[in-house]
Amino acid sequence: MDFLTLFGIYVAVVLSCIALVCRYSGQHRSPFSRAYSLLFEVVSPWIPQCIQNICYWSMHKIFHQRNRTFVYLHLILEAAIYGEFSYEIFGFCLEMDTTLFNVCLPYFFLAIKSYVFYLCCSKDPGTLTKENHTLQLKVYEYDQKLFQEGLICQTCQLVKPARSKHCSVCDRCVLRFDHHCVWVNNCIGAQNTRFFLLYLLSVCAMAGDIALLTVDMLFHSVVRSGIMHAQYVDSDGQQQPVGLLFVIQHLFMTFPRIVFMLGFVVFVFFLVAGYTMFHCYLALVNQTSNEWFKQKGHGCQHCNPVSEHRCRTSYNPFRGFYHRGILKNLGEIVWPLCPTQKKDN
Ligand SMILES: [Zn+2]
Ligand SMILES: [Zn+2]
Repeated sequence: MDFLTLFGIYVAVVLSCIALVCRYSGQHRSPFSRAYSLLFEVVSPWIPQCIQNICYWSMHKIFHQRNRTFVYLHLILEAAIYGEFSYEIFGFCLEMDTTLFNVCLPYFFLAIKSYVFYLCCSKDPGTLTKENHTLQLKVYEYDQKLFQEGLICQTCQLVKPARSKHCSVCDRCVLRFDHHCVWVNNCIGAQNTRFFLLYLLSVCAMAGDIALLTVDMLFHSVVRSGIMHAQYVDSDGQQQPVGLLFVIQHLFMTFPRIVFMLGFVVFVFFLVAGYTMFHCYLALVNQTSNEWFKQKGHGCQHCNPVSEHRCRTSYNPFRGFYHRGILKNLGEIVWPLCPTQKKDN
């Protein structure tokens, strides 16, 4: 298989993974999501209705009902990356001057990530029940803007506490609802936002560390091979020094699995790092992503507060109703408020 074919396959696989992650990680307004919808509109007339029904049913089952598909996919991808790292990179790094501590660091991050991932999946996010409902109503005040007093969840038949939302996937109301995450198969709410943040940070650390070690290993293999000082004969019969493109092609053909893994890990790093920064920002200003999306439509005094109208002219999250100062905001993530610690503005 020549370089271009191999490279084309790898790019197609990586782009498919990007599209899959963007489409189904709740980022419905991402360019990939829009491209997916556009593509579906174009190709759907040529797809038989029965196949469309099966696809729709499968997608509904996977993305709109609670299930562990993405938890398993997550574990498979992780096993593949760590398998490749252990099989081809770990030993090579030990042969180089990399210390044992540095080589073992990805396994340390993996242990932390696995623990917080388990907590994210299993911890109750803050479900409202008939038993705790009266107490949960006292945790946050109504801002009378995004959260109005006296509204009732038609499914749970409970008065909605401020900052709560009904999750249609889990079929329950959750206090300080952020979003439903398919990757952990759980809602992210008052009680597990801290674990979700740690989970995102640990994934960034894992991906970043593996990427650095892999780049280091590839760099040393290039130096050892001496290919940078090699020459090749061009079509005119002239000897030419090899360039960067030649080296990349050489690495791609010599270590195809490692280069593919590196591309995927770098992609995961930048994707998750961006998402982590967004959630860190939300933690600092004491907002949930649910509120952030809604708030953008409620910043203008001339807008109807309950309409879907979007106006960004006077949106300022630092004047948000639940913002209490950065330290208190972070404290609220780490130690979720209980009714006796009612918010003081
Ligand atoms: Zn509900
Ligand atoms: Zn949910």
